[in-house]
Amino acid sequence: SNKKRQYLNPVIEGLYPLIQAEALMNDKFVSLQLGECPEFYLDEKEISQLILNLSLNGLEAMKPGGKLVLKTYTEEDQVVLEVKDEGDGIKPELLEMIGTPFFTTKDTGTGLGLAICYSVAERHHAIIDLKTSEQGTTFFIRFTLTEEN
Ligand code: ADP
Ligand code: MG
Repeated sequence: SNKKRQYLNPVIEGLYPLIQAEALMNDKFVSLQLGECPEFYLDEKEISQLILNLSLNGLEAMKPGGKLVLKTYTEEDQVVLEVKDEGDGIKPELLEMIGTPFFTTKDTGTGLGLAICYSVAERHHAIIDLKTSEQGTTFFIRFTLTEEN
């Protein structure tokens, strides 16, 4: 990995045009709510992949008109990234399968997106939580700030 001490927000801002273009093509919307967060050690390519995978999943889960929100904030000793969609949620019986390589419910899915996210998170000492309901899904990526990460 190629970690450097840097801010998360500019990485998200750099990906925004791409995510936005993908959203608009299908009449969906994206907004950023980037809060103040300290720098930490991150591999920009890996984190970009994680943000893109979660964002594309969120967009794919929504009908036209839906809005995706990428949000950052600091909470105690953690920098938190939220990726929130207004899709129809992940069915409870599928929850334990998601993140397993090649598990997909899509006709042309690879089922690798979330597996990659979990391994990127692990290499960044981050935890992935999610909340899901019929109103949508939010992924929480919690980066714990320590002395050398
Ligand atoms: P893929 O997108 O290729 O199917 P992923 O690993 O990215 O593979 O996702 C695996 C599965 O998890 C998806 O097929 C879908 O069923 C479910 N999933 C992931 N993210 C969401 C989401 N935001 N809303 C609803 N379902 C999701
Ligand atoms: Mg995916």
